[in-house]
Amino acid sequence: MRRPRRPRDQSVYRGPSERGSVDSADVPVPPTAPHVRGRRIGLFGGTFDPPHVGHLVTAVNVRHALGLDVVVLSVAGVPWQKEGLRRITPGVDRVAMVEAAVSGVEGLEVGRLEVDRGGPSYTADTLAEMMAAESDATLFTIVGDDAAAGLTTWERYEDVLRLSNVVVVDRPGSPVELPRGIDWIRVEVPRLEVSSTDLRSRFEDGRPLDYLVTPPVLDVIARRGLYGSSVVGIRS
Ligand code: ATP
Ligand code: MG
Repeated sequence: MRRPRRPRDQSVYRGPSERGSVDSADVPVPPTAPHVRGRRIGLFGGTFDPPHVGHLVTAVNVRHALGLDVVVLSVAGVPWQKEGLRRITPGVDRVAMVEAAVSGVEGLEVGRLEVDRGGPSYTADTLAEMMAAESDATLFTIVGDDAAAGLTTWERYEDVLRLSNVVVVDRPGSPVELPRGIDWIRVEVPRLEVSSTDLRSRFEDGRPLDYLVTPPVLDVIARRGLYGSSVVGIRS
């Protein structure tokens, strides 16, 4: 497999909010000989209900900027912070959508650890499981800034900080304040104002989804009849 280009990238910087507080050279870079080190793995968790281009553009750009071997789009089994607030599409269907989204995309994978594990999905547990499976890996937890703002409310978030480097990308919308004292790695990615919430409401009122969701994902939605898709008239 072709390895991604090494990061020396203006889109990467460390710091709480302002660009350039620490030079991108400070971001941990892999040694040049790939056989003497473990993989660099990004864990990009989400509900992915449904997965959209904002997720994919983020994943491929973070992978490129940080020279990650792979970014795992890890589907939350029971997203405990969303449970009870709205109907969540079953985990197996969300895994199928993410599988379709990443199929054929180099360096992106679906993660189903949390769906298979059952119970509430805690990133700390997922990272520990990944470390147990691949102890020489370097892990990166990737979050949009809306999720980063709540990081200290995550179950055992100290373990998340201990087991991984936390990468944050800006998301369009209201500015958020990130918890202080965390050594975030900031990566600039194209800002796409797309959310699964908006997509679900598009399904409801019949507005177009084209270019917001990739065609293979739309196919899965149509085949499984998700989001009342029979009324959307998705092309075959
Ligand atoms: P919902 O509206 O249902 O909350 P969402 O679009 O926020 O869905 P999630 O599955 O909740 O998607 O998000 C998973 C991760 O992806 C989070 O870290 C979130 O911040 C990030 N993310 C989601 N959409 C974008 C986007 N457009 N740009 C950058 N990051 C995003
Ligand atoms: Mg969200």
